[in-house]
Amino acid sequence: MTIMEVSSLKKSYGKLDVLKQITFDVNKNDVIAVIGPSGSGKSTMLRSLVHLEEIDGGTISVSGNFLVRDGVYTKPQEIKQITAKMGMVFQHFNLFPHLTVKENLELAPKMVKKESSAEIKQRSTELLEKIGLTDWAEAYPGKLSGGQKQRVAIARALMMNPDILLFDEPTSALDPELTGEVLQVMKDLAQEHMTMIVVTHEMGFAKEVANKVIFMDNGEIVESGAPEELFTNPQFERTKAFLNRSL
Ligand code: ADP
Ligand code: MG
Repeated sequence: MTIMEVSSLKKSYGKLDVLKQITFDVNKNDVIAVIGPSGSGKSTMLRSLVHLEEIDGGTISVSGNFLVRDGVYTKPQEIKQITAKMGMVFQHFNLFPHLTVKENLELAPKMVKKESSAEIKQRSTELLEKIGLTDWAEAYPGKLSGGQKQRVAIARALMMNPDILLFDEPTSALDPELTGEVLQVMKDLAQEHMTMIVVTHEMGFAKEVANKVIFMDNGEIVESGAPEELFTNPQFERTKAFLNRSL
């Protein structure tokens, strides 16, 4: 089942074409790894999907609802509804420093006001347990390691019960010894069939966990496919050159 359709996305900053004809589908339960050199447009693409950037042309639909169709955005209220079902995890965590771990988790659901505070509290308690940070509920982010911060950021995204979770280089800002704990949380989510798009330099993760890999270069999807195909039998020189540098 397709839950997201992306077609012919275009975006420019002045003369620089950052996204050129980006087209792909996301099926339910997909774990899509997006790889590619720095500056290839990966973050811009991801940010466009959750409306942190506006594209200049193309179509994004989520569960059959158009966020943007042929470059024309839907109404603000509908944009809110569509993006509320999408969670985003950033390289630099973006936790609220003046709120405790638990308050970071509960802020967005409380603002939406769809649930009782008891329901919200129950979910934050469950998610803190899931990421192994129950004892840190009342701590401020400044007290946490990078790996713990990123696990909190993932739990915070999960608080909204997203249909799809997007990650922008979630381990790139971490010391190497802390990447494992974050990748493990992501692997667990994949096993629970969370639909995910993960921009990453972790080729091991892409090979092991993703069912589809998208290679971007210079604002384009050069090729995409199953990891066992793309990693062992890349079809294009640009993919080969990138993989030779990265593996
Ligand atoms: P990646 O995440 O693959 O490293 P980005 O999406 O961050 O790539 O950037 C793609 C290109 O767009 C780069 O050349 C970058 O310098 C440029 N770019 C990104 N954001 C902006 C911006 N706000 N203004 C101008 N250029 C930008
Ligand atoms: Mg980036």
